[in-house]
Amino acid sequence: KEEVNIISGALDLRKKTVKDVMTKLKDCYMLPINSILDFETMTEIVKSGYSRIPVYEGQRGNIVTVLFIKDLAFVDPDDNTPLRTLCQYYQNPCNFVFEDVTLDVMLKQFKEGHKGHMAFVQRIEEGDGDPVYETVGLVTLEDVIEEMIQAEIVDE
Ligand code: ADP
Repeated sequence: KEEVNIISGALDLRKKTVKDVMTKLKDCYMLPINSILDFETMTEIVKSGYSRIPVYEGQRGNIVTVLFIKDLAFVDPDDNTPLRTLCQYYQNPCNFVFEDVTLDVMLKQFKEGHKGHMAFVQRIEEGDGDPVYETVGLVTLEDVIEEMIQAEIVDE
């Protein structure tokens, strides 16, 4: 029974898009790049429970890099290190996908894995002038796998 579910879930990956399974931008836990890594901010980051945190400059849609929790290992909260300094040191790349990319394609891209298992979902806004890309959410490997096994993965 479960095997049948997984197989039908795997087949359905071609019918669903990243937009269907993403976490919407407004629900993402993110940090502005001008944050200071003081005790308060570092506590909040750890409490959020996420292992990867998008970092934006200006408005939330303008994601410039990703902070990994492990990047904080050598940061002393008493130093009040600017997040920007840490980001410049690690320069973690971000991965962007269009909202209409199907989950089988997304899975393949995650498997190739040169930019990690998180991608930012973008929409093209057709206006009068040049098309503008708008970031609308994020998707991770876990979101795709949940769709495949047709069940929620309970985080530790
Ligand atoms: P983590 O390793 O942080 O637990 P996962 O890749 O396991 O992240 O994803 C778990 C769920 O949390 C997914 O639905 C994903 O879209 C969402 N998610 C991941 N990072 C963030 C974040 N920074 N803010 C909000 N949601 C997130």
